[in-house]
Amino acid sequence: MQRTPLIAANWKMHGSTALVQQMSAALSELPPTNLTIVVCPPATLLPRFSQVSSFALGGQTLSHEVSGAYTGELSAELLQEAGAHYVIVGHSERRTLNNEDDALVAAKLKRAVAAGLIPILCIGETLAQRQQEKTEQVLAQQLDAVYASQPELLAKSVIAYEPIWAIGTGESATPEQAQATHAFIRQHLAQYDTQSAVRAKILYGGSVNAGNCAALFQQADIDGALVGGASLKPAEFAQICLAVT
Ligand code: PGA
Repeated sequence: MQRTPLIAANWKMHGSTALVQQMSAALSELPPTNLTIVVCPPATLLPRFSQVSSFALGGQTLSHEVSGAYTGELSAELLQEAGAHYVIVGHSERRTLNNEDDALVAAKLKRAVAAGLIPILCIGETLAQRQQEKTEQVLAQQLDAVYASQPELLAKSVIAYEPIWAIGTGESATPEQAQATHAFIRQHLAQYDTQSAVRAKILYGGSVNAGNCAALFQQADIDGALVGGASLKPAEFAQICLAVT
C-alpha cells in the first residue's frame, strides 16, 4: 500500500469513563504497526484518556470561529488542550441535524488545519441520490466546496467516504461499491493536487464491523475506516485494527 492505514472510532454521543478505560486497555494490547488509530469520543471524555501512546484522540466537530460568545461551541484550541490531534468535520449527522452546509464545513476544515488539527472530512450520498446515479455528482460537489478554492488543505486532510444509507444501518457498501467510489474520489482529488491525491488517506465508513472489514481493507483505494457502532465495543474495534495491518 502506498499509504499507511488509519482507523478512527466515532463514539458519537455514547461512551463513559468506563469505556475510556476499556478502550485504552484493548488498544494497548495491539502489536505496534504503522497503523494510526484515532479515537473520537464526546469532547468531555477527551481528558479522561491518560497516557495515550498507542493511539491518538480526535474531536467530533469544532467551531469555525477562533473564540468568542458562542455558547456551547468548542474551538480547535479547546479540543487540542483536551488532547485532540484530529477532528471529524462534516459528518452527515451534523450536516443533517445541525444544518451544516458545504460552506460551513469548508470553514470548519480550514479552521482545523489553521489550528494544527488534522481534519477527517466526511462526504457521502443518500440512498435516493445513489439510486438516481447522482453519487459522483454529490461527492464532487462536497469536495469542491472545500478544496476547489483552497487545494493546499488537501495535503493536511483525511477523507472519509460514508454513504449515508450505510451509516448505522448494518448495511455496509460492498467492497466493490466502496472501491469504485473511492477510486472516483481519488481521481477527483487529483484535480486539486495530483501528489496529495495519491497520498490522501480515504477511509470508508458505514456499518464497518469485524466481519466485513477485511474485504473492504483489501481494496486498493480504501486506506482504513471510520467506525461508529462497532467502535463502542473495544474488543471488536481492536479486531478491526488488527485486520488492516
Ligand atoms: P456506523 O457509523 O459504523 O455505526 O455505521 C459510522 C459513522 O457514522 O461514522
